Amino acid sequence: MQYSKLVDVYVRLEATTKRLEHMHIISEFLKEIDVDDLGTTILLLEGRIFPRWDEREIGMASKMMLKAINVASGETKKRINSEWKKTGDLGTVSYNLIKKKRQSTLRSYELTVKKVLKNLRDLAAIEGIGSVDKKIQLVAELLTSAKPNEAKYIVRTILNDMRIGVGEGSVRDAIVWAFFGKKLKVKYSKEGNIIDIEDREKYNRYVDAVQRAYNITNDFAPVAEAAKKHGLEGIEKLEMSIGMPLKVMLALKVEDIDEGFERCGKPAEFEFKYDGMRMQIHKDGMEVKIFTRKLENVTNQFPEVVDYVKKYVDEKRVILDSEAVGYSKKSGKYLPFQSISQRIRRKYDIKRMSEELPVEVNIFDIINYRGKSVVNDAFEERKKIIKKIIKNVPKKIKVAESIVTASKKEVQDFYKEAINSGNEGLMVKKLEAPYTPGARVGFMCKLKGTKENLDLVVVKAEWGEGRRSKWLSSYTLACMDKNNFLEIGKASTGLKEKREEGLSFAEMTDLLKPLIKKEEGKEVILKPKVVIEVAYEEIQKSPTYSSGYALRFPRVTQLRLDRSPEDISTLKMVETFYSKQKK
Ligand code: AMP
Repeated sequence: MQYSKLVDVYVRLEATTKRLEHMHIISEFLKEIDVDDLGTTILLLEGRIFPRWDEREIGMASKMMLKAINVASGETKKRINSEWKKTGDLGTVSYNLIKKKRQSTLRSYELTVKKVLKNLRDLAAIEGIGSVDKKIQLVAELLTSAKPNEAKYIVRTILNDMRIGVGEGSVRDAIVWAFFGKKLKVKYSKEGNIIDIEDREKYNRYVDAVQRAYNITNDFAPVAEAAKKHGLEGIEKLEMSIGMPLKVMLALKVEDIDEGFERCGKPAEFEFKYDGMRMQIHKDGMEVKIFTRKLENVTNQFPEVVDYVKKYVDEKRVILDSEAVGYSKKSGKYLPFQSISQRIRRKYDIKRMSEELPVEVNIFDIINYRGKSVVNDAFEERKKIIKKIIKNVPKKIKVAESIVTASKKEVQDFYKEAINSGNEGLMVKKLEAPYTPGARVGFMCKLKGTKENLDLVVVKAEWGEGRRSKWLSSYTLACMDKNNFLEIGKASTGLKEKREEGLSFAEMTDLLKPLIKKEEGKEVILKPKVVIEVAYEEIQKSPTYSSGYALRFPRVTQLRLDRSPEDISTLKMVETFYSKQKK
């Protein structure tokens, strides 16, 4: 398929922010695409070059792109820079410049989606000496053979900043409507919009099946291909495979032990809630891979965990779910998540880090056993398997500490034990429940004593004054509402002045600077990528921020590199906490 067809769709998507329209545009488009081009097109439509679970990256930031536009368009860097300042978007800049240059020349061949994706993937493979120049050259060539609008979206794809606002939900629903829409009885309005679905149950079944397949594969491409080729049966047959991460099951919050029993039944299993990082561990013979909750591959950063899994997991092929928690080498006591968070990004001195900041892996679930999915087995059965195959070696790897009980008193004692040994509280688990990837359905619940902090994404920041002038030192934070980020306050406390003392302004500045989209005086607009945890005194209603709420005395408590912007606190959570505090 021609890339220009996809570009037409980008343009139409960019022209509206309405989710339903997005969904409609995408679903009509998907219907037309040959199955052979479907996977490629869906990836590009989402602004991706690799599926979510693939750790390869292009590694090309705005500065390098500027140079590539300079080579492709022949315009001076100064001019490109000033255009960039004006529009805040290098995609638009390349559109304007290439349009100007292109007026007289005519291209002899068409770019296809496959060709574009191949070229972009080739970029990721360029490494070593001279790689910067090679990348710039390759992108310049691609831009030279592109039409202005094509250049715009190629640039945006490389910079991972599509600005078309297509969320996971829209793509999922578009797949449902594209491939199952004909099977549904639907009422349309005069304008041709869907106003009612008569067989809602059937519709929900399609949505659930597509969502399930996506949760397991983490990639809409195979889901759409299966739907197009084999219909519902095709997507129901899609299975997980060891080595490819799937979304983790999420926890619901309960207020107290009674609510825990209400949700999970009596008896239920209560486990320590370790304050560490989630690890999804894949073992296939001697090959071990470790993924975070965001499904980033962190295998290289945790060599000791790879070793433990090889030695102490007595089964060749498994996928395990666990929490890795840091502990002090001196006292043996557990440390809060923050202490090991730096290991997630670490690229050098890894061995020393693993010795200085060791983790203990607490296995609490199993997703695949001997190459077969066990998600539909009851939790208590899965736990039996874990106990059979994990050799408990404290401070290395073990089965999460737990009790099965129907007695509130026993839970209270166990809760105290959990807190006393440095944990956050307890998890409650329903004995008969399946493992539901990506879902927060209340089969596992968290029971924590303290007031809930919020996980928020940084959307803007401000350069500081005086001593702080080289740092971005005040952060505008947003929560999530149906794929939109809504602002909820500004925080500038909780960070340290010196790097050695913990999360510092300098570290935040390092993280945020590459994400700057636009500068307006002291303020910078950022790509919403960095998630931080924020404590506060109170949530108030406020017209100042787009969420309609503001935080009183917000304080940054920690960086959450293990969280992606899609998993931050939702507006709904904010509303719930607000009404609870009123009580
Ligand atoms: P929260 O991050 O507050 O939503 O709490 C859920 C998280 O607690 C999970 O994503 C895990 O990373 C972590 N966790 C710690 N201990 C356990 C456990 N025993 N079972 C399940 N999750 C756990």
